[in-house]
Amino acid sequence: MIPITDNHIHLDYRGKGIAAAKEFARAGGTHIILVSKPSWTLGIDVTKPDDFRLVFEETINIVREINMSDIGVVAFPVLGVHPAEITRLTERFGLKQAEELMIGGLEIAQKFVLENEAIAIKTGRPHYEVSASVWDASNRIMAYAMTLAHESGCAVQLHTETVDATAIADLARIARSAGISPEKVVKHYAPPLVNIFEQEGIFPGVLAGKGAIEAALAEGSRFMMETDYIDDPERPGAVLGPKTVPRRTLQLIERFGEEVFWKVHKENPEQVYGIEIEV
Ligand SMILES: [Zn+2]
Repeated sequence: MIPITDNHIHLDYRGKGIAAAKEFARAGGTHIILVSKPSWTLGIDVTKPDDFRLVFEETINIVREINMSDIGVVAFPVLGVHPAEITRLTERFGLKQAEELMIGGLEIAQKFVLENEAIAIKTGRPHYEVSASVWDASNRIMAYAMTLAHESGCAVQLHTETVDATAIADLARIARSAGISPEKVVKHYAPPLVNIFEQEGIFPGVLAGKGAIEAALAEGSRFMMETDYIDDPERPGAVLGPKTVPRRTLQLIERFGEEVFWKVHKENPEQVYGIEIEV
């Protein structure tokens, strides 16, 4: 049996929750990198850094529930502060305090990593147009999160604007100046630019949309696969469903063979996150 890993998935008790993990398993999935959700989607009102602890505890609880169940899926938590929090927090508290709150949240995420309760830190910068001051603050926050990850020996997952070769090089430069190897930086929601990512060192989590994995495989096998399933009851079908990665993998094995998918689903996540993927 081949391991099948989704590099970026969210589960929410208000959505399908554990049932989505069961769907993933039934379709052939074995491992999930479970990423914390933005605070507001959980109805958590952040007014102090410690409020992010509630966000992270929900992610960790879901991971525990999956890992203690007989579903047949192993989940690993990734915790962090969603880059879009900056807009909401700035509206309420001003930019300076928003930055402090987000940094405080990231420091709490790092504590969970140091206690072996999470495998990586999530950070990034807004995927939408923002003012120059918000952009600069976001870059500072992202660089700080990279430094925190480096200090604790873990990877970072980035949520950013849509990237091209220039943006990928920019992210690699920020990573190096923050002290972390780009090899420990995962660009979530990545386009299938496998060669460019390899040149810059950053690791792509390629969104498994139509044709993307075929395009990635045409360049190589240094990538992971993901859905960014958001499990939002108000937006069903807004993104790829939880069965997408296993289904697409099993279809593509018929054309590309199994070996390349052992790299994608086992060796690559093991190398980047320092985890063990066993079936
Ligand atoms: Zn996501």
